[in-house]
Amino acid sequence: MPSSHVIGPVTAAPPSARALLRDVFGFREYRPDQEEIVEHVVAGGDAFVLMPTGGGKSLCYQLPALVRPGAGIIVSPLISLMKDQVDALQAAGVSAAAYNSSLEAGEARRTLATLHSGELDLLYVAPETLMTESFLSRLHEIQEGAGGAGIALFAIDEAHCVSQWGHDFRPEYVQLGRLRGLFPGVPVIACTATADPQTRDDVRARLSLSDAPCYVTGFDRPNIRYTVVEKREPLHQLKVFLDGRPGEAGIVYCLSRKRTEEVAGKLAAAGLPAAAYHAGLPAGERRRVQDAFARDDLLVVVATVAFGMGIDKSNVRFVVHFDLPKSIESYYQETGRSGRDGMPAEALLLFGLGDAAVVHSLIEGGGRGGANGEPGYERDPEQVRVELHKLSSMVGYADGLTCRREALLGYFGEPYPAPCGNCDTCLEPPETYDATEHAQMALSCVYRLRQSFGIAHVIDVLRGSESEKILRFGHDRLSTYGIGANVSRDHWQSLIRQLIHRGYLTQDIARFSVLKLTAKAQPLLHGEEALVLAKPRTRVATKKQRKAADRSARAAGLAGLEVDEALFERLRALRKRLADAQRVPAYVVFSDATLAEMAARKPATEADLLEVGGVGQTKLERYGDAFLEVIAGGEGSGSDESAPY
Ligand code: ADP
Ligand code: ZN
Repeated sequence: MPSSHVIGPVTAAPPSARALLRDVFGFREYRPDQEEIVEHVVAGGDAFVLMPTGGGKSLCYQLPALVRPGAGIIVSPLISLMKDQVDALQAAGVSAAAYNSSLEAGEARRTLATLHSGELDLLYVAPETLMTESFLSRLHEIQEGAGGAGIALFAIDEAHCVSQWGHDFRPEYVQLGRLRGLFPGVPVIACTATADPQTRDDVRARLSLSDAPCYVTGFDRPNIRYTVVEKREPLHQLKVFLDGRPGEAGIVYCLSRKRTEEVAGKLAAAGLPAAAYHAGLPAGERRRVQDAFARDDLLVVVATVAFGMGIDKSNVRFVVHFDLPKSIESYYQETGRSGRDGMPAEALLLFGLGDAAVVHSLIEGGGRGGANGEPGYERDPEQVRVELHKLSSMVGYADGLTCRREALLGYFGEPYPAPCGNCDTCLEPPETYDATEHAQMALSCVYRLRQSFGIAHVIDVLRGSESEKILRFGHDRLSTYGIGANVSRDHWQSLIRQLIHRGYLTQDIARFSVLKLTAKAQPLLHGEEALVLAKPRTRVATKKQRKAADRSARAAGLAGLEVDEALFERLRALRKRLADAQRVPAYVVFSDATLAEMAARKPATEADLLEVGGVGQTKLERYGDAFLEVIAGGEGSGSDESAPY
């Protein structure tokens, strides 16, 4: 029998998955669906698992790999991701390793030796490594060889990478389709967070898993608070937001590489340390940023969507969209990188007047190379149509006045009964007003301008500006000149934006973004219809408002217990010291959720500490004393100077 799972004496009967859940991972309960999936795979079944980011996919293959004899082979697309997962497993006392092109020859040999001797419970491999003939024949040998424990399972993480429909297609994933046929007796489990049904079916077909049961967990992420504010002086809005969240880690997504550098530079100049990340940076710099972020040495990364899959950090507390994402799918996936540990997290979207138009032209102009600098390619008109449709759904969401969660989950086909109580529209319902008259003014002004001018000029005419352009065109003689002078420019901008997004006006992107009326505008223009719009919201929540809200949210997750914030900070500092000493990310030691529970329950004994979610046997042995001491208020409890912030 291989020397499995370090924990407890080696007995004839393998430990149950439930016992391992508690002893190794320190969790008392399964999350929804985890148990069913684990039991199914333990019994040798294939599975296709669809769970939101942070839902807890890893356990679905890690536990069966521990229970079943032999090593579980885990396919993961990014080497950096493998390393973090292996670190986290080792910290919990599991025998895990990674095998990929980054290993030195000696290390690679040692890893293979542990695989052959049956000492490994989990081996993470890159797809291109796994599918080489030499590696496959090695696995066949292990599977068929006498005395060996064989292969526990194959797990394919980020399985959507196999589909060209998905947004992360990786050619090296395609070969994985052969696995199912090559190893008939070994269960294959594929996991992804990509929801869209087309991609889902494609992935299953390509991996020969069409007959495997499909587990779809609810997509709700209740701990994430969704907020959309109107973009005005976005840099200032971002600074206010960051000022209110000192010491917290987060990601700011921008649409272009250039913008990430600009924003990161300006934040740094304002004393808010941040680094840029995009695919155009040298590999070494990208790795440096990613590692520093993983270790809590760098708190804010301003990035393009290239900063994504490798982010396994569980204590990302916020995701800001500085620019409009291209689809609700990307938005949901990106915001989903916050709060994986189940603690309160925030998703802030700054939504500006011109944003939809910019994304629109990026989609249409994809042939000139996208924002991520992919090589130029001819855009398939059907693809463009699909993307534009997705964009308009995104705009509809950003502009919506109803519960954000209801809108998001509804988009993914999961009805949700609003209100959720944890999004901006639920917490602070938007103020609306009768916009009929103002809308008529704006629409008729567009008409008088012969549908040949852009937003800025329309507003100038409405407000009676005496600009040179107005005088030159004689627009001061129009009947709509100055009829909206008593209304602010900001108000007009917000109104016109809403008219565009509700389909009364279009912006002709190909022709200097001039405004045109649509057929829908007629009844409104002729007074046959009324229109209710939202008052613009531009304020981001300040620190004080948020802290109060957070405390109650945290307490809710802890059955009414109050988190001792000062103790929480001390525990966080201790975690950072321990993690640095071991050169692993802080969350590998304990998650924020675990620290918060410690700071609420204040365990005094080892037995009490074991009751805290996330504390298993190995971590108790390794870290128990240090944490108990700080909780008891002993040595180290006041030494905050080593905290990174
Ligand atoms: P995913 O891969 O689906 O994005 P992970 O497997 O990384 O998510 O899990 C996200 C977080 O949830 C991790 O911090 C993990 O430790 C935690 N988690 C997973 N399952 C449980 C559970 N049953 N109880 C408590 N926490 C859990
Ligand atoms: Zn809501």
